[in-house]
Amino acid sequence: MASKRILISGGAGFIGSHLAEAFLKKGYAVTIVDNLLTGREENISRLIEQQSVKFYRVSVENFSPANEESYEFILHFASAASPKDYMRYPIETLKVESLGTFRLLDLAKEMGSRFVLASTSEVYGDPQVHPQPESYWGYVNPVGPRSVYDEAKRFAEASTMAYKRKYDLDVRILRIFNTYGPKMRVDDGRVVPNFIVNALRGDPLPVYGDGSQTRSFCYIDDTVRAIVQLTEKDGISGTVVNIGNPKEISIMELKDTLGRVLGRDLQVKFFPLPQDDPKRRQPDISLIGRLVGWKPEVSLEEGLKKTVEWFKKKVGLFEKGKAGDID
Ligand code: UDP
Repeated sequence: MASKRILISGGAGFIGSHLAEAFLKKGYAVTIVDNLLTGREENISRLIEQQSVKFYRVSVENFSPANEESYEFILHFASAASPKDYMRYPIETLKVESLGTFRLLDLAKEMGSRFVLASTSEVYGDPQVHPQPESYWGYVNPVGPRSVYDEAKRFAEASTMAYKRKYDLDVRILRIFNTYGPKMRVDDGRVVPNFIVNALRGDPLPVYGDGSQTRSFCYIDDTVRAIVQLTEKDGISGTVVNIGNPKEISIMELKDTLGRVLGRDLQVKFFPLPQDDPKRRQPDISLIGRLVGWKPEVSLEEGLKKTVEWFKKKVGLFEKGKAGDID
């Protein structure tokens, strides 16, 4: 029997490419849709050699599958996700979450596929409730610089729920908190790659604000395991689920942890805090525990160690201009 095929938009990106690999290992055939705006062909170059993998280099909103293809699951993971990237590509970010989401919801409706939306902790904005359960509606500036991502994801969530209510589509919404690991770009701009890359170059780490703001960092393997479990789980249509590691630390504590991993004290350089930067963030993960029994297994030290190993190979190449800037 032919294996079940799934579609992953953003499949050449950081989380998407890890997901494609995980589903392939489980025996699925995988179609990747990615315009390589912030994703990298290098992330999937080994995967696309396999016969069961198809790659369409196109923006999601313009995607049409080849005739013979239909999908068991459609996972919408395409979007710039780093604040640096989505502020640089504001219109593309809004479009992939609006036009792109409609395109994939319509395909899911036509094909009877299950639809999985990659949402984000950013829907909670600068949260006034801590930690954040799925029932919290958030505190978002609708016209601030982060709104192109926050409001776009909120719109995508609303669209997904509309298809569930109107057409009884099988959907689920995954609110993914800060995730890090191999395959993030050297110039990604998020705090973990920025800290690692600067530390490896012997430069001071850029700290925005006074570094007392908190985040909760989940290693990519844990995040991917959660996504796979929630994608395959029957009987949870319409469910909104947080995915993240509840261990909350300040940005200065992240610097200290990285220093321990590297075995030396790291210097910092302070920069102004970006507008609307959330002060605290920590997922309440009781729901995912009840649904599929998931909890994170990789400690921050362990995850940083693996990520550092990966970046060590990349930083040298980047300096020689071979790791590919997105410019
Ligand atoms: N940050 C920092 N230095 C950096 C990048 C980010 O101090 O080089 C801070 C940023 O202001 C935020 C936190 O680290 O408070 C996490 O930022 P990131 O861009 O990784 O993701 P966010 O959680 O804000 O989407």
